[in-house]
Amino acid sequence: MKTQQELLTEQFTKFVAHNYFIGDFMNVKLWNDNYLDYKEEFEDELIVIKANSFIIMDEEKAVLFKGKYKQPELDGGGVQKPSSYKKLRIQHFQSGEEKKVNELRCQGCSFIGSSKDDLDNHITETHLDQMLDKDEVKKRQKAKLDA
Ligand SMILES: [Zn+2]
Repeated sequence: MKTQQELLTEQFTKFVAHNYFIGDFMNVKLWNDNYLDYKEEFEDELIVIKANSFIIMDEEKAVLFKGKYKQPELDGGGVQKPSSYKKLRIQHFQSGEEKKVNELRCQGCSFIGSSKDDLDNHITETHLDQMLDKDEVKKRQKAKLDA
């Protein structure tokens, strides 16, 4: 006879395995409601969220990251630096919205453009030296000079 605890553990393990195998990870928007960019190390990764902007993150990770205590950084007078305010907010996607946002999402970092052009400019500005397609690099460098 299994104990209640064993049954619960078994159910939970099945639930996790199920969600893992069907790849049912839910993405959410993680907003930075501060007027300054937010930066914090989390699980060996530097998370950067621009001021009044969001990044996309797996919900479970976002909840952990949001809830993680951050030591306030103080200035010389002992007042917390506004750049260390942790003003994060989780927002769920509306139906169909995630697909749209993903199209404007940079594959190289957490940047999300406000339009296709915005994303394109970002890639030219930030990732030109990482691009493998050298013809594309030349084309973009030329376009930058002509602009
Ligand atoms: Zn990028």
